[in-house]
Amino acid sequence: MRKTKQLLWLAGALLAVCLTACGSGQSAQTEEVLTAACQGEGATVQVSADVSGGWRADFDPVSVRLYAPEEDGGRDPVAIGLCEGEAEYARRLQAARALPSYTETEEGVTFTDGAGLQEYILDLGENVHYTILAQPDCDAQAVFSRFDVTLTARTPAQDDLFLTLVNRTHKLPDDWESRIRLVDTQNYSQQSIQVEENAYQAFRALQEDVRKDGVQIELESSYRSVERQKDLWAEYEQAYGLDYCNHYVAVPGFSEHHTGLAIDVNLIQPEKDQTDEERAAERAALWAKVHAKLAAHGFILRYLEGRDDVTGYSYEPWHIRYVGDPAVAGEIMETGVTLEEYLNAVEPSDAVVDYGTSAVYDEDEMREAVAAIRAQFDTWTGCELRSVRYAGDQCYNREGVAWLSSVGGGKAYAQCIEFVSDFRSGETGSGYCEPNTDYTDYQWWLARTLGGEWELLSWGA
Ligand SMILES: [Zn+2]
Repeated sequence: MRKTKQLLWLAGALLAVCLTACGSGQSAQTEEVLTAACQGEGATVQVSADVSGGWRADFDPVSVRLYAPEEDGGRDPVAIGLCEGEAEYARRLQAARALPSYTETEEGVTFTDGAGLQEYILDLGENVHYTILAQPDCDAQAVFSRFDVTLTARTPAQDDLFLTLVNRTHKLPDDWESRIRLVDTQNYSQQSIQVEENAYQAFRALQEDVRKDGVQIELESSYRSVERQKDLWAEYEQAYGLDYCNHYVAVPGFSEHHTGLAIDVNLIQPEKDQTDEERAAERAALWAKVHAKLAAHGFILRYLEGRDDVTGYSYEPWHIRYVGDPAVAGEIMETGVTLEEYLNAVEPSDAVVDYGTSAVYDEDEMREAVAAIRAQFDTWTGCELRSVRYAGDQCYNREGVAWLSSVGGGKAYAQCIEFVSDFRSGETGSGYCEPNTDYTDYQWWLARTLGGEWELLSWGA
């Protein structure tokens, strides 16, 4: 039995391709790979089956069924591999310890259960386990050697990291600080500031580049912790009131400055004898020179003129954002789109959407689910949606899928997802909410078949 415990950097997009490419019931000619989601802590178990020599495999998100090359066409699987969480693992282990066939190995345990099934349990660490159940008359080694299991931490690739979207509706990912490195430096006023290290290097190169055009730019500010933003909010609220804050101050967790990838640039304009108009015109010309050089260094101008309906902010010539790849930056700058549009992440309303952190679903998949929720919600007259939050990977399990399959009239769903939302109902309410009531943690359950669209199946307070 081969087993690898390896942390892979794997882009969400790759997983999405894999999930749609490996349909259930499909007969495999070459090795197939499917990412199956366990209830591990932030970990995803990637399962592959070696289906050479006439073997075939069926995949679904929580199991793999392996069919031996047999005369009858191998209608019954000779083995099933199952992803399992801690509780199920503990239960199986407890039952197995009493059996005479119980054997511990370096990789896990093997035994033959009461029904004669051969079981092999792999302890993959991080509370993720994988159990292979083989038929009694099988050569266990022949079966087990056809499974391969890899523990995969689903972390966006570096390029995706630099394209992380944080705005009024997209919260900073919870584990952000562990994914970046900050450089300590000073701004033009000798105040200590921090910048993400790649963004910092890129800024220094940009600074040198524009200096050749006779333009001086300096660091003003960049990284700001969520704690600092909370303090800022409190300071501004005390000084100017809540209304001011709601309009001009980013909600803690929803400021791009939390990423360390956003930089406020201080444009040094020499003092000259000139009218206000002349000075303003010169300043605009200097900014234009800076903006022209941004993309070559992996930066974009983040808050474009007249696009506050999308970005949530008025034009800020000084606020630049590092996106990593100069080709990506060039495409964004040349086409004149906002980062939201580039990432296809324009939210149709002001409701805050928190996609949280998931080892199972990427943001595109979640966005589709939220769109289905909004479509339902929009039919509730006068209701004001305030926020939608991902309820967490723990809500995706076999019980949930089975329950929604029964709700959905016995449809064979492969995955489920839950969101919770806060909203205020309207004057008349609806069949699903009382009039003029504030709802918190209102639940929304959706499920989908393999390769299918999310279907909203259940909701309620
Ligand atoms: Zn800024």
